[in-house]
This record gives sequence, C-alpha cells and structure tokens, in this order.
Amino acid sequence: MATREGNDTKVVLSETDIPTKWYNIQADLKTPAPPVLHPGTGQPIGPQDLAPLFPMGLIKQEVSQERWLEIPDEVRDVLRLWRPSPLYRARRLEKALGTPARIYYKYEGVSPAGSHKPNTAVAQVYYNKQEGVARIATETGAGQWGSALAMACQFFGLQCKVYMVKVSYQQKPYRRIMMETWGAQVVASPSTDTQAGKKVLEADPDSPGSLGIAISEAVEDAATRDDTKYSLGSVLNHVLLHQTVIGLEAKKQLEKADDEAEIVIGCAGGGSNFAGLAFPFVGDKLTGKNKTIRAIAVEPTACPSLTKGKYVYDFGDTVGLTPLVKMYTLGHTFVPAPLHAGGLRYHGMAPLVCKLYEEKYIEAVAVPQVAAFEAAVRFARSEGIIPAPESAHAIRVVIDEAKKCTEAGRGKAILFNLSGHGHFDLSAYEAFLTGKLQDYEYPSAKVEEALRHLPKVKA
Ligand SMILES: *Cc1c(COP(=O)(O)O)cnc(C)c1O
Repeated sequence: MATREGNDTKVVLSETDIPTKWYNIQADLKTPAPPVLHPGTGQPIGPQDLAPLFPMGLIKQEVSQERWLEIPDEVRDVLRLWRPSPLYRARRLEKALGTPARIYYKYEGVSPAGSHKPNTAVAQVYYNKQEGVARIATETGAGQWGSALAMACQFFGLQCKVYMVKVSYQQKPYRRIMMETWGAQVVASPSTDTQAGKKVLEADPDSPGSLGIAISEAVEDAATRDDTKYSLGSVLNHVLLHQTVIGLEAKKQLEKADDEAEIVIGCAGGGSNFAGLAFPFVGDKLTGKNKTIRAIAVEPTACPSLTKGKYVYDFGDTVGLTPLVKMYTLGHTFVPAPLHAGGLRYHGMAPLVCKLYEEKYIEAVAVPQVAAFEAAVRFARSEGIIPAPESAHAIRVVIDEAKKCTEAGRGKAILFNLSGHGHFDLSAYEAFLTGKLQDYEYPSAKVEEALRHLPKVKA
C-alpha cells in the first residue's frame, strides 16, 4: 500500500514484459457469441466464406475459443518499438480536480502512428505475410487506421493500397503524407480504380466520398485480385484480441504500483481500444475473480450505438456488402454528423463488446463533443499530452467519475485508455478554443429512419 502514496508518475515495464499471449475473452463468455450470418441465406457462415478477404490465421483467431493465443516472436519484435507503453498516474490532473480518486492512463499515443491501431496492424500484416499475401487493401477516414497499416506493411514488405475518403484526402493531407512516407499507395475515394468507385463518380463526379464507399472499393480490390487481402482496423474479434496487450500490460503496471483498478474507461468507436484495455479486467468479472470492477465504454451522443441502438443483426458496412453480425446498431444506412472524433463515427459496435453490454458486464455512456473537448483541454493543461478527439470522450467520463469520488469523499482507482494523441487534430482544438465547436443533438429521426432499413433475418 505504501507506494499508493509514493511519487511515481510513470510505471514502465521492460521489453521482456510485452505479453507473449493475447487474451481471448470468448473463452470466458457464459454462452458463445451469436454466429455471423450469410446475408443471402441467413445461415451461419464458415471460414471458407471469409477466405477471399482474410488469411486463415486471422479467421481462426476470429472464431477461436481458446483463452490464450500465442503472439508470434516476429510480431513482438515489431511491438518492441513502442511497447510496453507507459502507464501514467495523472497526479497533476488529480490535483487540479481536487479529487481523492487515483487516476491512471495507459498511453497508446507513443506508437509511431500515434494511436493504438498499430497493435493490430502489425499482427494482421504478419498473418497475411505468412500465407503469401503480397498486397493489402483497406479504407481509411481521417487516416489513423490507414497510417497504422501502411507502417506495418512496410515492416513486413507488403504493398499497401489505401482508399481514403475524398474530403479527408483533400482537407487532411498530413496523414496521407505519413502513409506515403511509409510506402503506401493512397487514392481519394471514390476513385476510378474500382467499379464501385466509377459507379459513384458517374452518378456524382463531385462526390465527397464516405467510409461506406471506401470500404466497397477496398473490398472489391481484395476480392478481385489473387495477391490481395482486405484488412479492418476495429470491430472484428481478432482486432479486439490483438489489442488486449494494452490491458495485460496495464494489469502488470498497476500491480507494480501496488494498486488495483476499480473503474476502467475507454472511448468506443468500433470498440477495439476499449476492449483492448478492458477485456483482461472484464475477464476477471466473468470468472468471478473480481466481481466489483466496472468497465465503461464512452461514445459520442451524435453516434450512440450502445446507448441508443438496437441489438439486432445488421450489416457491418454502410453499403450492405458484409456478412450480418449481431450488434447494437443505429442502422447501417445511418450517417453520423461530421464529428471531429472521426474514429467514433461507426453505426455499430464490436459484437463482443455488444454481448457483454447486453449481459450487463460492461456499461456505456454517451457524451457530447463540446464537453469532451472541455475535458481534453483540462487534461492537456495539467498532464501536457494533447489527446486525440476520440480519447477526449473517455477523459470526460474519467473527470465525471473523479468528481463523484470527491462528492462521496472516497478515492477510487480509475484507469483509462489514452488511445492516441491529437497532433493532427489541432483544427478541432482551434474550433473549440475559438468557441466555434458545436454539439450535435441525438438525431432520433435519422436513426428511426435508418432502423427501418435493417436487413430481415429469420429468427
Ligand atoms: C480509431 C481510433 C479510435 C476508435 O476506434 P476503436 O476501435 O473504438 O478503438 C479511438 N481512438 C483513436 C486515437 C483512434 O485512432
């Protein structure tokens, strides 16, 4: 207990502490996750259905029920460049808030791409390489995922083609330049490189693009070329699995600090950084080792899939090309407002996160954009790091929980995931600082409309 009052601000581990196994929460679920369905037949799909898009190594992880899966040495060798990531005790923030809470954050912004996304990009590229894949196609919005994958492809000698939503391509050049620096080929989507892109451009030559269109292009690219597979940066089980290195390290670091997390918090777009931090702790709740720990996923009020969506089968993408997955969804045709936290603008949520939410093992909160930036600026002014707008949502709830501790007069250990830095999002900070940032109301009419277009699934 002595070290709780000690002076450590950063808990660092050595490279030998990088986890050697990923934690697969599927092994500890009380009932198996609902099957993924073929959109045509409504029947559960098998590994062969996914084989055109993903290497078998990843498909096996997607459905694995084994609790611990070995992290290949080649993957750990790359993770070493930034892992273990530091765990900080936010002493200056605690002081600024005057809270008895002990606030810890796991900082994933130390990766070269500046977020948690390289943790899975590296693993995904490795399994593709293993199976002789020469090229990977993907989509990216603002470029966080595209830049992580571009770097990973470069490390393993694979080509990388990124379809980047055209408005971002034009308005946010820096991440495109990062991707190109790491050797990726980046095109503005809709592009003339695919039939899907050409079709959109014929109808609207000035189309600004969308994530849905970019996904269609990347999937078509992968499906029509023998040397190419497709890759996704969140939502899927194997992506969440790869991110568990975050929570596994954090557990070790808290042990070293002689403390134990009581509340674990992460922002949730597709759910991967939240799950990566929280699942190793939620696993203890599932197995009865720790019954009281709370895990909170934080989403924006403008795109609140967990807190306002329906738990039903829906398409994973906007266009309706993917298999059907059971998740909390706002409807695949729902287009969220142009939030600055681009990584939180997904209509659904990772099926594993949804199942745990449905069964009340985890909680969810939605917060408005302005309140999130208020919290982020407060954080930056006490801790120094300028958070990604996505992470800002988590910080809002951290501060709210710390205030509750102040009111109750009892300090709790709060752990959150600082999923990335905001160095390429300074225009959003400028909007906030000049009073121009606005909140978007929960678009209930738009969600109701989108929910009318859910696919029909036989029960
Ligand atoms: C992409 C991204 C997110 C949202 O994605 P999840 O899969 O929900 O983690 C959050 N934070 C940052 C910094 C991101 O780049």
